[in-house]
Amino acid sequence: MWKFNEDFSFVRHGFRFILFSMIFLIVIGLGSYKFYEIFGENNYVAIHLMMGILIIVVTMSISIQSWLISPYILSNRFLYVGALFLTISFIEIAHTLTYKGMPFFITESTPYVATWFYMLSRLLLSIGFLSMFFIKEKGIKLIYRWLIYSLPFVIIIGCFSVLYAQSPILPPLMIEGEGPTVLKNTLQYTAVALQMVIMVLLLKNFKKAPKIIFLLLCSSIYLIMSDFLYTMYQDVYDIKNFVGHTFELGAFYLLFRAMYYSSIEKPFKQLVDTQEHLEKSREKMHYMAYHNEITNLPNERFLMESLKKDLYISNSQKAILAIGIERIAAIKASLGSTYADQMISLIAQRLKNVLPEKYLLCLLREDYFVVYIDEVNNTHQLELLSQQLQFVMEESFQIQHFSLNSQLNIGIALFPTDSNREEELIRFALYAMHEAQKTPIRIRFYESSISNEMTERLLLENDLHDALANQELFLEYQPQLDLYTGQIKSVEALVRWQHPKKGWISPGVFIPIAEESGLIIPIGQWVLETACKQVKSWEAAGLPPIKVAVNLSLGQLFQQNLVELIHNVLEKTQLEPKYLQLEITESMTINIDHMTTILHKLKALGVTIAVDDFGTGYSSLSYLKDFPIDCLKIDRSFVQKIQSNSTDKALVGMILSMAKHLQLKVVAEGIEEIEQLSYLIDSECDTVQGFLFSKPVPPHILQENYQTLHNNAKSILESITTSEV
Ligand code: C2E
Ligand code: MG
Ligand code: MG
Repeated sequence: MWKFNEDFSFVRHGFRFILFSMIFLIVIGLGSYKFYEIFGENNYVAIHLMMGILIIVVTMSISIQSWLISPYILSNRFLYVGALFLTISFIEIAHTLTYKGMPFFITESTPYVATWFYMLSRLLLSIGFLSMFFIKEKGIKLIYRWLIYSLPFVIIIGCFSVLYAQSPILPPLMIEGEGPTVLKNTLQYTAVALQMVIMVLLLKNFKKAPKIIFLLLCSSIYLIMSDFLYTMYQDVYDIKNFVGHTFELGAFYLLFRAMYYSSIEKPFKQLVDTQEHLEKSREKMHYMAYHNEITNLPNERFLMESLKKDLYISNSQKAILAIGIERIAAIKASLGSTYADQMISLIAQRLKNVLPEKYLLCLLREDYFVVYIDEVNNTHQLELLSQQLQFVMEESFQIQHFSLNSQLNIGIALFPTDSNREEELIRFALYAMHEAQKTPIRIRFYESSISNEMTERLLLENDLHDALANQELFLEYQPQLDLYTGQIKSVEALVRWQHPKKGWISPGVFIPIAEESGLIIPIGQWVLETACKQVKSWEAAGLPPIKVAVNLSLGQLFQQNLVELIHNVLEKTQLEPKYLQLEITESMTINIDHMTTILHKLKALGVTIAVDDFGTGYSSLSYLKDFPIDCLKIDRSFVQKIQSNSTDKALVGMILSMAKHLQLKVVAEGIEEIEQLSYLIDSECDTVQGFLFSKPVPPHILQENYQTLHNNAKSILESITTSEV
């Protein structure tokens, strides 16, 4: 490929060179007679000898260069060019030695032999050059170079035999005092014509190797100029003859340059370029091996190597902060990795802005950051820094047309207190990060108990894999009481795990494990199907129609085929959709657009949707107007403090009145006390659920005790009305 910028400079240099030559020619041409004195007979032999030597040196150099390079290039053309120039250099030696005025060589020097030697060299150059265009480039065995380079010797012997024959075989080319003969001029013009053909062929191929061809074109121009000058002189002492020689020398020099460029300079430049390219690729590969592509932050390998080098230099306290991005997996699942990646790089940028430069910020496994702090004075400093880092998440992230929110969970492990091994330190920080999400401030220092918890968690996860197949999971149902009718019109299905060794395990423990491990998908599907079947079997047992509420996890909502799956479950169990309620949580509102679409599709099936644990999600309430919601479930934590905390009381009141305006039903969760119920009745709450009426119970108990449950509820409700009266 012709790189324009690179090759342009040589064109400029070339033009300068030609311009200079032209000026030189004009000056010499104009002052021809003045110069004549210097180039007079007495000096001319010496001057010609000098020019001859230079031409011989240049032509010989070309042939030697080709000879030396041929083992590396092994190209037939290269060797032919070398042999051609060796022949030319031999002939030029003969021409110089036999030039008129030179001392005796074989015979007395005459213009006859010298001019013929010149003419032969000139014609050989053009013919040889021209033939190069028709010789196909191919590889050649090294042994042939001896054969090819012996040809010049044969040719020069042949030339000598012809020119030094007893009686002259060839007509003279130069008659002293008259100048060149017609034959000389004809041959000279033939050389010019050949040279012009060469130039046309060169121009045709210009794009293939512009610099070489440019040099060859310049050389051709010089040769043609020398040709014209050689047809014009009157005797060999004529200034035109000298200038002709100068141009001839120039032409050979340019040929030499072209050869040098193509055989040495260009390959060398290519080699340098390749080396530079290799070096750059090596640097890039090294960079990529030690950095994360999305954020350009150092990666795990970089961190481990830095820790290996740095950790043990001094025994001062150092810290590892593991920073997890809440819900990033869900963002990836719902919007795709492009959005998640963009969010991660934006977070990385914000974190970088907060962190002092000497702290090492790395991105590990694409979704959590690690900060290495090589000097810790006190742990309070780490807490403050963690809070500062969390603060950067306050403002939501604008990614294309989405506005995404998230929080950071930060776990901290200290060197050498928690561990003095780099791998363990990172692991401990990650454990602490994991635990951090359970705390309100989302920052947690590592403690040895966390390790035990994590091990326990891993063991549980392992067992949970088999829990479904081993039928260790079952459902309990907690009745929900309609306060207007006093009837149990709905229940909430709650999953339970009876572990063969560890006994009853709370869903609060194993649901998060199932969510993280992805097991929530098969478990959730089983819950849905079992709950729907149960409603049908109650119906078959003669119970009045009961609606079942099923909890959905975030992972399930982003499950590709959720709508289809629910549709199939309803079809399979023959349950009317209005008897199924799906409970989502506020934390699922990370991506309003996606949620709105999914919820509308679910609504279209005919099921109802409730927002569970309402009030705990810290999210903007704006989603309430976008989501097709039927019901709000007020979180237990508010209900429990109705009597003791006036703020919570006000909040419950506010939720109820807001729900009324939005025409949403309200279920109050966790009713344990009569007073709570009494307040809710006063505030016109629709439905209640809590231990006051019933704990979650196995399905057969609910069926058997259905009437008793009603009676209990009735007496509780009556006790309130009585006390109010
Ligand atoms: P949730 O959906 O808010 O369920 C209500 C929880 O409150 C249940 O806890 C229930 O037993 C408890 N509860 C109800 N009334 C009272 C009360 O008066 N006092 C007190 N102290 N607690 C009461 P449980 O069964 O431990 O479930 C905990 C959470 O686990 C559920 O909270 C729900 O988020 C999740 N969960 C349960 N089953 C499933 C399921 O099948 N799928 C999913 N994704 N999550 C589930
Ligand atoms: Mg629930
Ligand atoms: Mg709840």
